[in-house]
Amino acid sequence: MTPPTRTLPARTDPQPPLLAGSRAGLADVLARLDGAVDAAAKARRPLGPLPAGTPTEVLAAAAHALGPAELPAEGLGADAALGLLATVLVEHGIDLSHPRAAAHLQPPALSVAVAADVLASAGNASLDTYDSGPSALAVERWLIGALTGLAGLGERADGVLTPGGSLSNLMGLLLARDAAAHRRGIDARDQGVAALPGPVVFCSELAHFSTHRACAALGLGEAAVHPVPVDDRRRMRPDALRAALGALGPDRTPVAVVATAGTTDFGSVDPLPQIAEIAAGHGMWTHVDAAYGFGALFSDRLADRLAGLELADSITLDLHKIGWQPAAAGVLLVSDTTAFTALDRQVAYLNPVDDSEAGYDGLLGRSLQTTRRPDAVKAAATLLTYGRAGLGRMVDTCHDLARHAERRIQAEPELELVAPAELTTVLFRHRTADPAAADAFNAALRRHLLETGTALIGRTEAATDGPGTPKRVCLKFTLLNPTATTDDIDALVDAVLDAGRTCARLIKEDDAA
Ligand SMILES: *Cc1c(COP(=O)(O)O)cnc(C)c1O
Repeated sequence: MTPPTRTLPARTDPQPPLLAGSRAGLADVLARLDGAVDAAAKARRPLGPLPAGTPTEVLAAAAHALGPAELPAEGLGADAALGLLATVLVEHGIDLSHPRAAAHLQPPALSVAVAADVLASAGNASLDTYDSGPSALAVERWLIGALTGLAGLGERADGVLTPGGSLSNLMGLLLARDAAAHRRGIDARDQGVAALPGPVVFCSELAHFSTHRACAALGLGEAAVHPVPVDDRRRMRPDALRAALGALGPDRTPVAVVATAGTTDFGSVDPLPQIAEIAAGHGMWTHVDAAYGFGALFSDRLADRLAGLELADSITLDLHKIGWQPAAAGVLLVSDTTAFTALDRQVAYLNPVDDSEAGYDGLLGRSLQTTRRPDAVKAAATLLTYGRAGLGRMVDTCHDLARHAERRIQAEPELELVAPAELTTVLFRHRTADPAAADAFNAALRRHLLETGTALIGRTEAATDGPGTPKRVCLKFTLLNPTATTDDIDALVDAVLDAGRTCARLIKEDDAA
């Protein structure tokens, strides 16, 4: 079943260090890539988006191909090493460009973004100080300018790239926490939050789990999270938020409301204008988690759904979701650059005061990281390549595919639509004769697809009969391939139906045995 253990010859000649940064170095990178691409082309690509097999089998095959987990005494040389890894990645990995890859908010990457990322890696600039790479600073400032403009934020807006939406949410809540403490006359940066009475962070009951974890990490405690119920379109109910705020005693501190613009499962967008107005009335920070939904702004058809985004104090967005970037390309935007004071530090060997005053300053003060990759380069290359209209067409294609999937699901007697396509996801269930068996059946059906590797779809739990009803296991398509067609979606639905028949037969055989 598995290829033999690594048979590459051990080499004894020392491998000279070849550096990527110079012009000759870049040529060497290209030559190395050429070899790796050849190896990848020769590798046996799985037929579907995932390799066939159980997780134990797939991981064992990959480990077997990699060979003993030990540092070789002498190196194998770049071509052998890259050839080996390229082969392992292709033969035992994921193919997100496959039209039946539809599980997570994990898009196929655009080639221009990957090429730009290679350039950025080759230069190895960092964003923390001026002298770790001025051009990388300029590219990030350019990108932040373009994104704050797209978001409709004003003159004082600012932002920073992050390792993803989870970290953007953490940073947004950190700024909110320090602002709330400040209003109470507490310096959270020096004193911590022990002195902050009863902090509360509101979010919809469908908010991403990273909000809860951020509250724990920030010392607010997960108990600080107050989940607000949603309406029948899975949007936070402003009346419920208002009531919850009204019920807070004087011993509680409303820190922030986290509105979601594009819930991970449903793509639903909380009513941003009403939420921002309520928050402002209580002197409370509005953070919008638009990790998924921000990309709707590229589309003329969908941009309206994010109306009110410009009222946020801070915004999370992920260009490694709608944006087609290789991870990570997370961003945190703020409406007022002074909010970043909470993160600023003066370090003798990085940004001494007189250097900063003389203009030799970097972006250390906007991040929780110090060394920071120039992830803005790939995103800037993408925005320049396609423009808003080009990206908007990709968004619209994915939205069209989701709507096609929705219609197809509705037309299949075996399937039941759970949530329509708001952005690019569709939730549904496979029906079972015995409704009590449906949860286990849908879970098994998805595992069957993963094991055969024919289709990669998501699963989640959702209240299928409206707000407040019990949560049931659902299947999910997350459609982010802008080159897929409606025929591909039909094939995806067919694969689900096929898996349903197989699972039903296996269960029958089991019962008979
Ligand atoms: C994906 C997602 C996140 C987390 O982003 P990562 O980049 O995976 O850390 C946060 N919020 C929402 C709504 C998301 O969909």
